[in-house]
Amino acid sequence: MRQSTLFSKTRKQAPADEVAKNAELLIKAGFIHKEMAGVYSYLPLGLRVLNKISDVIRDEMNSIGGQELFLTVLQDKETWSTTNRWSEEVVDSWFKTKLKSGTELGLGFTHEEPLTKLMKDHIQSYKDLPVYVYQIQTKFRNEPRAKSGLMRGREFLMKDFYSFSKDEKSHVEFYEKAKGAYKKIFERVGLGGRTHLTFASGGTFSKYSHEFQTVTEAGEDTIHICSSCGTAINEEIFAEQNVCPVCNGKEFRTEKAVEVGNIFNLGSRFSEAFDLSYLDESGQKKLVVMGSYGIGPGRLMGTIVEALSDEKGMVWPKNVAPFEYHLLDLSGGNEKVKAFAEDLYGTLSAAGHEVLYDDRPARAGEKFADADLFGIPTRLVISEKTIGEGKIERKERTSDTPALVTKAELVG
Ligand code: ATP
Ligand code: MG
Repeated sequence: MRQSTLFSKTRKQAPADEVAKNAELLIKAGFIHKEMAGVYSYLPLGLRVLNKISDVIRDEMNSIGGQELFLTVLQDKETWSTTNRWSEEVVDSWFKTKLKSGTELGLGFTHEEPLTKLMKDHIQSYKDLPVYVYQIQTKFRNEPRAKSGLMRGREFLMKDFYSFSKDEKSHVEFYEKAKGAYKKIFERVGLGGRTHLTFASGGTFSKYSHEFQTVTEAGEDTIHICSSCGTAINEEIFAEQNVCPVCNGKEFRTEKAVEVGNIFNLGSRFSEAFDLSYLDESGQKKLVVMGSYGIGPGRLMGTIVEALSDEKGMVWPKNVAPFEYHLLDLSGGNEKVKAFAEDLYGTLSAAGHEVLYDDRPARAGEKFADADLFGIPTRLVISEKTIGEGKIERKERTSDTPALVTKAELVG
Protein backbone atom coordinates (compact mmCIF):
# COMPACT_ATOMS: atom_id res chain seq x y z
CA MET A 1 0.00 0.00 0.00
CA ARG A 2 1.21 3.47 -0.90
CA GLN A 3 1.11 5.74 2.12
CA SER A 4 0.40 8.69 -0.18
CA THR A 5 -3.02 7.13 -0.91
CA LEU A 6 -3.87 6.35 2.72
CA PHE A 7 -6.62 8.74 3.80
CA SER A 8 -5.92 8.47 7.51
CA LYS A 9 -3.59 11.06 9.00
CA THR A 10 -1.35 10.87 12.02
CA ARG A 11 -1.92 13.48 14.71
CA LYS A 12 0.19 14.91 17.49
CA GLN A 13 -2.42 14.62 20.22
CA ALA A 14 -5.13 12.13 21.13
CA PRO A 15 -8.52 13.59 22.19
CA ALA A 16 -8.26 15.30 25.59
CA ASP A 17 -10.75 12.88 27.18
CA GLU A 18 -8.77 9.79 26.17
CA VAL A 19 -6.87 8.35 29.11
CA ALA A 20 -5.90 4.87 27.87
CA LYS A 21 -2.44 4.51 26.37
CA ASN A 22 -3.63 1.96 23.80
CA ALA A 23 -6.33 4.26 22.42
CA GLU A 24 -4.04 7.32 22.55
CA LEU A 25 -1.41 5.63 20.40
CA LEU A 26 -3.89 4.01 18.04
CA ILE A 27 -5.73 7.30 17.52
CA LYS A 28 -2.51 9.29 17.02
CA ALA A 29 -1.41 6.76 14.39
CA GLY A 30 -4.78 6.89 12.62
CA PHE A 31 -5.49 3.20 13.30
CA ILE A 32 -8.80 3.90 15.05
CA HIS A 33 -11.26 6.76 15.53
CA LYS A 34 -12.96 7.57 18.80
CA GLU A 35 -16.69 8.06 18.39
CA MET A 36 -17.47 8.41 22.14
CA ALA A 37 -16.32 6.80 25.40
CA GLY A 38 -15.98 3.05 24.86
CA VAL A 39 -16.98 3.28 21.18
CA TYR A 40 -14.30 3.16 18.49
CA SER A 41 -14.22 2.77 14.71
CA TYR A 42 -11.42 0.88 13.00
CA LEU A 43 -9.63 2.65 10.13
CA PRO A 44 -7.68 0.73 7.45
CA LEU A 45 -4.43 0.19 9.39
CA GLY A 46 -6.25 -0.74 12.60
CA LEU A 47 -8.62 -3.03 10.73
CA ARG A 48 -5.67 -4.90 9.24
CA VAL A 49 -4.43 -5.64 12.77
CA LEU A 50 -7.88 -6.61 14.04
CA ASN A 51 -8.39 -8.95 11.08
CA LYS A 52 -5.01 -10.59 11.60
CA ILE A 53 -5.80 -11.21 15.26
CA SER A 54 -9.19 -12.65 14.29
CA ASP A 55 -7.55 -14.87 11.67
CA VAL A 56 -5.15 -16.35 14.23
CA ILE A 57 -8.08 -17.05 16.54
CA ARG A 58 -10.16 -18.49 13.68
CA ASP A 59 -7.31 -20.77 12.66
CA GLU A 60 -6.92 -22.20 16.16
CA MET A 61 -10.68 -22.59 16.63
CA ASN A 62 -10.93 -24.46 13.33
CA SER A 63 -8.03 -26.68 14.39
CA ILE A 64 -10.02 -27.98 17.39
CA GLY A 65 -13.07 -28.67 15.24
CA GLY A 66 -14.94 -25.39 15.53
CA GLN A 67 -17.49 -24.57 12.82
CA GLU A 68 -17.93 -20.86 12.24
CA LEU A 69 -21.38 -19.30 12.27
CA PHE A 70 -22.78 -15.81 12.69
CA LEU A 71 -25.73 -15.22 14.98
CA THR A 72 -27.91 -12.14 14.97
CA VAL A 73 -27.25 -9.30 17.40
CA LEU A 74 -31.00 -8.71 17.89
CA GLN A 75 -32.27 -10.63 20.89
CA ASP A 76 -35.72 -11.89 21.75
CA LYS A 77 -37.12 -11.17 25.22
CA GLU A 78 -38.79 -14.55 25.59
CA THR A 79 -35.59 -16.47 24.90
CA TRP A 80 -33.71 -14.61 27.59
CA SER A 81 -36.58 -14.76 30.06
CA THR A 82 -36.22 -18.56 30.01
CA THR A 83 -32.99 -18.22 32.01
CA ASN A 84 -34.06 -15.06 33.84
CA ARG A 85 -31.32 -13.08 32.10
CA TRP A 86 -33.65 -10.57 30.43
CA SER A 87 -34.10 -8.87 33.77
CA GLU A 88 -31.99 -5.76 34.31
CA GLU A 89 -31.63 -6.66 37.99
CA VAL A 90 -29.79 -9.79 36.85
CA VAL A 91 -27.93 -8.38 33.83
CA ASP A 92 -27.16 -4.69 34.16
CA SER A 93 -25.20 -4.35 30.91
CA TRP A 94 -28.09 -4.73 28.43
CA PHE A 95 -28.64 -2.25 25.65
CA LYS A 96 -32.32 -2.60 24.77
CA THR A 97 -34.49 -1.18 22.03
CA LYS A 98 -38.03 -1.55 20.68
CA LEU A 99 -39.74 -2.44 17.43
CA LYS A 100 -42.28 0.05 16.05
CA SER A 101 -44.98 -2.26 17.44
CA GLY A 102 -43.56 -1.80 20.93
CA THR A 103 -42.01 -5.26 21.16
CA GLU A 104 -38.81 -5.13 23.19
CA LEU A 105 -35.50 -6.31 21.74
CA GLY A 106 -32.03 -6.57 23.23
CA LEU A 107 -28.61 -6.20 21.63
CA GLY A 108 -26.63 -9.37 22.39
CA PHE A 109 -24.03 -9.11 25.14
CA THR A 110 -23.30 -12.86 24.77
CA HIS A 111 -25.09 -15.69 22.95
CA GLU A 112 -25.63 -18.77 25.16
CA GLU A 113 -29.42 -18.48 25.17
CA PRO A 114 -30.22 -18.10 21.45
CA LEU A 115 -27.58 -20.65 20.48
CA THR A 116 -28.80 -23.30 22.94
CA LYS A 117 -32.32 -22.79 21.62
CA LEU A 118 -31.11 -22.93 17.99
CA MET A 119 -29.29 -26.22 18.64
CA LYS A 120 -32.60 -27.91 19.56
CA ASP A 121 -33.25 -28.06 15.80
CA HIS A 122 -29.97 -29.88 15.17
CA ILE A 123 -29.20 -32.11 18.17
CA GLN A 124 -31.51 -35.06 18.85
CA SER A 125 -29.34 -38.15 19.09
CA TYR A 126 -25.95 -39.11 20.53
CA LYS A 127 -24.90 -39.36 16.87
CA ASP A 128 -25.29 -35.59 16.56
CA LEU A 129 -22.69 -34.93 19.29
CA PRO A 130 -20.25 -33.40 19.89
CA VAL A 131 -20.90 -30.04 18.20
CA TYR A 132 -18.41 -27.17 18.36
CA VAL A 133 -19.37 -23.78 16.98
CA TYR A 134 -18.05 -20.26 17.22
CA GLN A 135 -18.47 -16.79 15.84
CA ILE A 136 -16.44 -13.60 15.71
CA GLN A 137 -19.05 -10.96 16.09
CA THR A 138 -20.09 -7.69 17.70
CA LYS A 139 -21.30 -7.61 21.29
CA PHE A 140 -22.92 -4.69 23.07
CA ARG A 141 -22.48 -4.02 26.78
CA ASN A 142 -23.42 -0.95 28.72
CA GLU A 143 -20.14 -1.02 30.64
CA PRO A 144 -20.23 1.47 33.54
CA ARG A 145 -16.53 2.26 33.21
CA ALA A 146 -15.20 2.51 29.69
CA LYS A 147 -11.82 4.13 30.29
CA SER A 148 -9.51 1.45 28.99
CA GLY A 149 -9.69 2.17 25.27
CA LEU A 150 -10.08 -0.94 23.14
CA MET A 151 -9.74 -3.08 26.25
CA ARG A 152 -13.23 -2.19 27.46
CA GLY A 153 -15.60 -1.19 24.71
CA ARG A 154 -19.35 -0.70 24.89
CA GLU A 155 -19.44 -2.23 21.42
CA PHE A 156 -16.70 -4.77 20.79
CA LEU A 157 -15.83 -7.90 18.87
CA MET A 158 -15.94 -11.19 20.69
CA LYS A 159 -14.96 -14.61 19.55
CA ASP A 160 -17.39 -16.83 21.40
CA PHE A 161 -17.05 -20.57 21.02
CA TYR A 162 -19.54 -23.07 22.45
CA SER A 163 -19.13 -26.81 22.91
CA PHE A 164 -21.98 -29.31 23.11
CA SER A 165 -20.91 -32.72 24.43
CA LYS A 166 -22.77 -35.83 25.45
CA ASP A 167 -21.27 -36.25 28.90
CA GLU A 168 -18.87 -34.80 31.42
CA LYS A 169 -15.97 -37.00 30.30
CA SER A 170 -16.03 -35.94 26.66
CA HIS A 171 -16.64 -32.36 27.72
CA VAL A 172 -13.60 -32.31 30.01
CA GLU A 173 -11.42 -33.81 27.28
CA PHE A 174 -12.47 -31.08 24.91
CA TYR A 175 -12.04 -28.38 27.56
CA GLU A 176 -8.38 -29.38 27.91
CA LYS A 177 -7.96 -29.21 24.14
CA ALA A 178 -9.47 -25.72 24.10
CA LYS A 179 -6.98 -24.65 26.79
CA GLY A 180 -4.17 -25.78 24.46
CA ALA A 181 -5.62 -23.83 21.52
CA TYR A 182 -5.89 -20.72 23.69
CA LYS A 183 -2.25 -21.04 24.72
CA LYS A 184 -1.27 -21.15 21.04
CA ILE A 185 -3.36 -18.08 20.21
CA PHE A 186 -1.63 -15.95 22.83
CA GLU A 187 1.77 -17.19 21.68
CA ARG A 188 0.99 -16.47 18.03
CA VAL A 189 -0.17 -12.91 18.71
CA GLY A 190 3.02 -12.19 20.65
CA LEU A 191 1.70 -12.30 24.22
CA GLY A 192 2.79 -15.84 25.10
CA GLY A 193 5.32 -15.03 27.82
CA ARG A 194 3.04 -12.52 29.57
CA THR A 195 -0.21 -14.43 29.46
CA HIS A 196 -1.02 -16.77 32.34
CA LEU A 197 -3.59 -19.49 32.66
CA THR A 198 -5.50 -18.21 35.69
CA PHE A 199 -7.80 -20.13 38.00
CA ALA A 200 -11.03 -18.25 38.66
CA SER A 201 -14.26 -19.17 40.39
CA GLY A 202 -17.47 -20.22 38.68
CA GLY A 203 -16.73 -23.79 37.60
CA THR A 204 -19.33 -26.51 37.17
CA PHE A 205 -17.43 -29.79 37.44
CA SER A 206 -14.62 -28.43 39.56
CA LYS A 207 -14.80 -25.25 41.60
CA TYR A 208 -12.81 -23.40 38.95
CA SER A 209 -13.25 -21.71 35.63
CA HIS A 210 -10.20 -20.43 33.78
CA GLU A 211 -9.13 -17.04 32.57
CA PHE A 212 -6.18 -16.06 30.44
CA GLN A 213 -4.64 -12.97 31.99
CA THR A 214 -1.97 -10.83 30.34
CA VAL A 215 0.31 -8.92 32.67
CA THR A 216 0.16 -5.15 32.06
CA GLU A 217 0.00 -2.11 34.32
CA ALA A 218 -3.13 -1.06 32.40
CA GLY A 219 -5.00 -4.18 33.53
CA GLU A 220 -8.05 -3.81 35.76
CA ASP A 221 -7.52 -7.18 37.44
CA THR A 222 -4.98 -8.43 39.97
CA ILE A 223 -3.50 -11.90 39.64
CA HIS A 224 -1.15 -13.95 41.77
CA ILE A 225 1.40 -15.88 39.74
CA CYS A 226 2.92 -19.07 41.14
CA SER A 227 6.70 -18.66 41.32
CA SER A 228 7.32 -22.32 40.53
CA CYS A 229 5.01 -23.07 37.57
CA GLY A 230 3.72 -19.71 36.26
CA THR A 231 0.04 -20.61 36.71
CA ALA A 232 -1.96 -17.78 38.23
CA ILE A 233 -4.97 -17.47 40.52
CA ASN A 234 -7.26 -14.48 40.51
CA GLU A 235 -8.09 -12.27 43.45
CA GLU A 236 -11.27 -14.15 44.36
CA ILE A 237 -9.55 -17.55 44.49
CA PHE A 238 -6.50 -16.12 46.29
CA ALA A 239 -8.84 -15.05 49.14
CA GLU A 240 -9.84 -18.66 49.69
CA GLN A 241 -6.58 -20.45 49.06
CA ASN A 242 -2.95 -19.49 48.73
CA VAL A 243 -1.72 -22.72 47.26
CA CYS A 244 -1.16 -23.19 43.53
CA PRO A 245 -3.88 -25.53 42.21
CA VAL A 246 -1.44 -26.98 39.65
CA CYS A 247 1.84 -27.60 41.57
CA ASN A 248 0.92 -26.82 45.21
CA GLY A 249 3.49 -24.00 45.18
CA LYS A 250 3.09 -21.45 47.96
CA GLU A 251 5.03 -18.49 46.63
CA PHE A 252 3.34 -15.96 44.39
CA ARG A 253 4.12 -12.62 42.83
CA THR A 254 1.25 -10.19 42.39
CA GLU A 255 0.68 -8.34 39.11
CA LYS A 256 -1.89 -6.13 37.41
CA ALA A 257 -3.38 -7.95 34.41
CA VAL A 258 -6.15 -7.91 31.84
CA GLU A 259 -8.41 -10.87 31.12
CA VAL A 260 -7.91 -11.52 27.42
CA GLY A 261 -9.88 -14.74 27.34
CA ASN A 262 -11.81 -17.15 29.51
CA ILE A 263 -13.23 -20.63 29.37
CA PHE A 264 -16.19 -22.00 31.32
CA ASN A 265 -17.78 -25.32 32.03
CA LEU A 266 -21.46 -24.54 31.71
CA GLY A 267 -22.58 -28.06 32.60
CA SER A 268 -26.31 -28.39 31.94
CA ARG A 269 -27.27 -24.88 33.07
CA PHE A 270 -28.47 -23.81 29.62
CA SER A 271 -29.39 -27.21 28.19
CA GLU A 272 -31.70 -27.78 31.14
CA ALA A 273 -33.37 -24.37 30.77
CA PHE A 274 -34.10 -24.98 27.08
CA ASP A 275 -34.43 -28.77 27.32
CA LEU A 276 -31.58 -29.31 24.88
CA SER A 277 -31.36 -33.08 25.19
CA TYR A 278 -30.55 -36.17 23.13
CA LEU A 279 -31.28 -39.88 23.11
CA ASP A 280 -28.23 -41.91 24.11
CA GLU A 281 -27.18 -45.34 22.75
CA SER A 282 -29.80 -47.08 24.89
CA GLY A 283 -32.58 -44.65 23.95
CA GLN A 284 -32.45 -42.72 27.22
CA LYS A 285 -32.97 -38.97 27.26
CA LYS A 286 -29.91 -37.01 28.48
CA LEU A 287 -29.07 -33.34 28.81
CA VAL A 288 -26.30 -31.94 26.61
CA VAL A 289 -23.18 -30.75 28.49
CA MET A 290 -21.98 -27.31 27.42
CA GLY A 291 -18.89 -25.14 27.61
CA SER A 292 -18.18 -21.58 26.51
CA TYR A 293 -14.89 -20.07 25.45
CA GLY A 294 -14.44 -16.32 24.89
CA ILE A 295 -11.74 -14.02 23.56
CA GLY A 296 -11.98 -10.33 22.65
CA PRO A 297 -9.96 -9.55 19.49
CA GLY A 298 -10.23 -5.80 20.15
CA ARG A 299 -9.23 -6.21 23.78
CA LEU A 300 -6.31 -8.32 22.60
CA MET A 301 -5.27 -5.55 20.18
CA GLY A 302 -5.41 -2.96 22.96
CA THR A 303 -3.47 -5.28 25.25
CA ILE A 304 -0.71 -5.77 22.67
CA VAL A 305 -0.32 -1.99 22.44
CA GLU A 306 -0.27 -1.60 26.23
CA ALA A 307 2.17 -4.44 26.81
CA LEU A 308 4.64 -3.95 23.97
CA SER A 309 4.78 -0.29 22.97
CA ASP A 310 7.71 1.95 23.95
CA GLU A 311 8.23 5.70 24.29
CA LYS A 312 8.34 6.12 20.49
CA GLY A 313 5.16 4.28 19.65
CA MET A 314 3.62 0.91 19.02
CA VAL A 315 5.48 -2.38 18.51
CA TRP A 316 3.54 -5.04 16.60
CA PRO A 317 4.52 -8.70 16.74
CA LYS A 318 5.03 -10.10 13.25
CA ASN A 319 1.83 -12.16 13.04
CA VAL A 320 -0.51 -9.27 13.77
CA ALA A 321 1.38 -6.29 12.34
CA PRO A 322 -0.56 -4.29 9.73
CA PHE A 323 2.37 -4.81 7.33
CA GLU A 324 5.61 -6.75 7.36
CA TYR A 325 7.77 -3.93 5.98
CA HIS A 326 7.58 -0.16 6.24
CA LEU A 327 9.54 1.07 3.24
CA LEU A 328 10.66 4.71 3.49
CA ASP A 329 11.63 6.57 0.35
CA LEU A 330 14.10 9.28 1.41
CA SER A 331 14.91 10.35 -2.12
CA GLY A 332 14.28 14.04 -1.42
CA GLY A 333 13.83 14.69 -5.13
CA ASN A 334 16.62 12.39 -6.37
CA GLU A 335 15.04 10.48 -9.29
CA LYS A 336 17.52 7.60 -9.14
CA VAL A 337 16.78 6.96 -5.47
CA LYS A 338 13.05 7.22 -6.12
CA ALA A 339 13.30 4.68 -8.96
CA PHE A 340 15.18 2.28 -6.69
CA ALA A 341 12.47 2.57 -4.02
CA GLU A 342 9.66 2.10 -6.56
CA ASP A 343 11.39 -0.96 -7.96
CA LEU A 344 11.90 -2.49 -4.52
CA TYR A 345 8.24 -1.85 -3.61
CA GLY A 346 7.15 -3.62 -6.78
CA THR A 347 9.51 -6.57 -6.29
CA LEU A 348 8.65 -7.13 -2.62
CA SER A 349 4.90 -6.88 -3.29
CA ALA A 350 5.14 -9.29 -6.24
CA ALA A 351 7.01 -11.76 -4.01
CA GLY A 352 4.05 -11.73 -1.60
CA HIS A 353 5.45 -9.43 1.09
CA GLU A 354 3.12 -6.93 2.73
CA VAL A 355 4.67 -3.50 2.38
CA LEU A 356 3.55 -0.06 3.51
CA TYR A 357 5.46 2.21 1.15
CA ASP A 358 6.00 5.73 2.42
CA ASP A 359 6.22 7.41 -0.97
CA ARG A 360 5.06 10.80 0.31
CA PRO A 361 7.13 13.89 -0.40
CA ALA A 362 7.60 14.42 3.34
CA ARG A 363 10.63 15.18 5.49
CA ALA A 364 12.81 12.28 6.68
CA GLY A 365 12.13 13.18 10.33
CA GLU A 366 8.40 12.94 9.79
CA LYS A 367 8.73 9.57 8.06
CA PHE A 368 10.92 8.15 10.83
CA ALA A 369 8.53 9.38 13.52
CA ASP A 370 5.54 7.81 11.73
CA ALA A 371 7.44 4.54 11.29
CA ASP A 372 8.18 4.39 15.03
CA LEU A 373 4.59 5.28 15.89
CA PHE A 374 3.08 2.68 13.52
CA GLY A 375 5.34 -0.05 14.89
CA ILE A 376 5.62 -2.16 11.74
CA PRO A 377 8.26 -4.85 12.54
CA THR A 378 10.85 -4.02 9.87
CA ARG A 379 11.78 -0.59 8.51
CA LEU A 380 13.51 -0.32 5.15
CA VAL A 381 15.15 2.95 4.14
CA ILE A 382 16.23 3.95 0.64
CA SER A 383 18.38 7.06 0.38
CA GLU A 384 21.29 8.42 -1.64
CA LYS A 385 23.64 6.95 0.96
CA THR A 386 22.21 3.41 0.78
CA ILE A 387 21.94 3.16 -2.99
CA GLY A 388 25.50 4.42 -3.30
CA GLU A 389 26.35 0.90 -2.17
CA GLY A 390 23.40 -0.58 -4.09
CA LYS A 391 21.83 -1.50 -0.77
CA ILE A 392 18.89 -0.95 1.54
CA GLU A 393 19.01 0.01 5.20
CA ARG A 394 17.06 -2.45 7.29
CA LYS A 395 16.13 -1.96 10.94
CA GLU A 396 13.85 -3.92 13.25
CA ARG A 397 11.41 -1.82 15.29
CA THR A 398 12.81 -3.27 18.52
CA SER A 399 16.46 -2.60 17.67
CA ASP A 400 18.59 0.54 17.40
CA THR A 401 21.14 -0.85 14.98
CA PRO A 402 20.38 -0.75 11.27
CA ALA A 403 22.12 -3.02 8.78
CA LEU A 404 22.72 -2.66 5.05
CA VAL A 405 21.22 -5.51 3.02
CA THR A 406 20.90 -6.36 -0.65
CA LYS A 407 17.66 -6.66 -2.52
CA ALA A 408 18.24 -10.40 -2.99
CA GLU A 409 18.58 -10.86 0.80
CA LEU A 410 15.26 -9.10 1.35
CA VAL A 411 13.20 -10.80 -1.29
CA GLY A 412 14.45 -14.18 -0.06
P1 ATP B 1 -14.43 -8.43 32.31
O1 ATP B 1 -14.51 -9.07 33.64
O2 ATP B 1 -13.07 -7.89 31.99
O3 ATP B 1 -15.51 -7.44 32.07
P2 ATP B 1 -15.98 -10.54 31.25
O4 ATP B 1 -15.85 -11.55 32.31
O5 ATP B 1 -17.18 -9.68 31.23
O6 ATP B 1 -14.66 -9.60 31.25
P3 ATP B 1 -16.71 -12.32 29.13
O7 ATP B 1 -18.11 -11.96 29.31
O8 ATP B 1 -16.34 -13.68 29.53
O9 ATP B 1 -15.76 -11.24 29.84
O10 ATP B 1 -16.25 -12.06 27.63
C1 ATP B 1 -15.31 -12.90 26.94
C2 ATP B 1 -14.13 -12.08 26.45
O11 ATP B 1 -14.58 -10.93 25.73
C3 ATP B 1 -13.26 -11.50 27.56
O12 ATP B 1 -12.31 -12.45 27.97
C4 ATP B 1 -12.62 -10.32 26.86
O13 ATP B 1 -11.49 -10.72 26.09
C5 ATP B 1 -13.70 -9.85 25.92
N1 ATP B 1 -14.45 -8.71 26.49
C6 ATP B 1 -15.36 -8.74 27.50
N2 ATP B 1 -15.85 -7.52 27.74
C7 ATP B 1 -15.24 -6.69 26.85
C8 ATP B 1 -15.33 -5.29 26.58
N3 ATP B 1 -16.17 -4.53 27.26
N4 ATP B 1 -14.54 -4.78 25.59
C9 ATP B 1 -13.70 -5.56 24.86
N5 ATP B 1 -13.58 -6.89 25.08
C10 ATP B 1 -14.34 -7.45 26.05
MG1 MG C 1 -17.54 -7.76 31.84
